[in-house]
Amino acid sequence: MIPLKQSINQQIKIPNRGIELYVKREDKLHDFVSGNKFRKLKYNLKEAEDLRCKTLLTFGGAYSNHIAALASAGQVLGFKTVGVIRGHELSTRIEHNPTLHFAKACGMQFKFVSREDYRNKMSDSFLNALMHDFGKFYLIPEGGTNALAVKGCEEILSETDKDFSYICVSVGTGGTISGLINCSKPGQQVLGFPALKGSFLHKDISKFARKSNWTLVNDYHFGGYAKINEALVSFINTFSSAYSVPLDPIYTGKMMFGVMDLIDKGAFPNGSRVLAIHTGGLQGILGMNTHLKKKNLPLIDI
Ligand SMILES: *Cc1c(COP(=O)(O)O)cnc(C)c1O
Repeated sequence: MIPLKQSINQQIKIPNRGIELYVKREDKLHDFVSGNKFRKLKYNLKEAEDLRCKTLLTFGGAYSNHIAALASAGQVLGFKTVGVIRGHELSTRIEHNPTLHFAKACGMQFKFVSREDYRNKMSDSFLNALMHDFGKFYLIPEGGTNALAVKGCEEILSETDKDFSYICVSVGTGGTISGLINCSKPGQQVLGFPALKGSFLHKDISKFARKSNWTLVNDYHFGGYAKINEALVSFINTFSSAYSVPLDPIYTGKMMFGVMDLIDKGAFPNGSRVLAIHTGGLQGILGMNTHLKKKNLPLIDI
């Protein structure tokens, strides 16, 4: 089992509008790879151990938090790890990509594939070819979401969180919010802030979520996955210096922007207690900054 630290709820002192806001610092769970990805891996790694599978294989893009988390967890627990990475061109760019560089240092082996192969990554023929290359492996889907991942995310909320009226979280594939929904208490509302455009999320979450006390707030994806603008960068830097809470540009920055905006607009009833889940992902800042630098845009402070 990966040794995890305690995550604490940190109060964000906002001008009193009758709302209390806390951030659950899941980004503090681990020194190198933080947040929800370890929650999602926990029971999958147990299952791989039970099946006596020595190799973990998964898929991801160039800056994937999931790739970084799997590489690190594999190193700690003594698994071999394989990352199937979208984009052939990245094979010569490993040293320039902070995420891949980190994963490689953790011992991850890569297979770089074209975007077309990547789209067909769950086909029998593609998986058989991988088996041929790497032997038997335990497969973890892109983004890490499956039933065991949701089970791990059901451990994010603890008994002491029962007095919050709203739980807010960023949504990528929907695994994390599903776990939160399942462990939420009666009377709690779970608000998901998708980090991407996509109408499929509702259906995906419904596959795993056992309750209906949730809503997706689709107004804060900033144009799509990994799309950002100067307003978001400026928000992240201001929030981080005001409250000492660093945010990542892909997930938690957008979610927190949304939460603060909804508070400003008076969307939460007076007396609401709001808990925003910091799902981690801070390793992604370095990669985003190389991109921002190329475009001559302001960088995220680190
Ligand atoms: C992957 C990720 C998410 C999204 O989690 P899903 O379970 O895919 O919805 C949110 N925040 C961070 C920091 C992530 O890395």
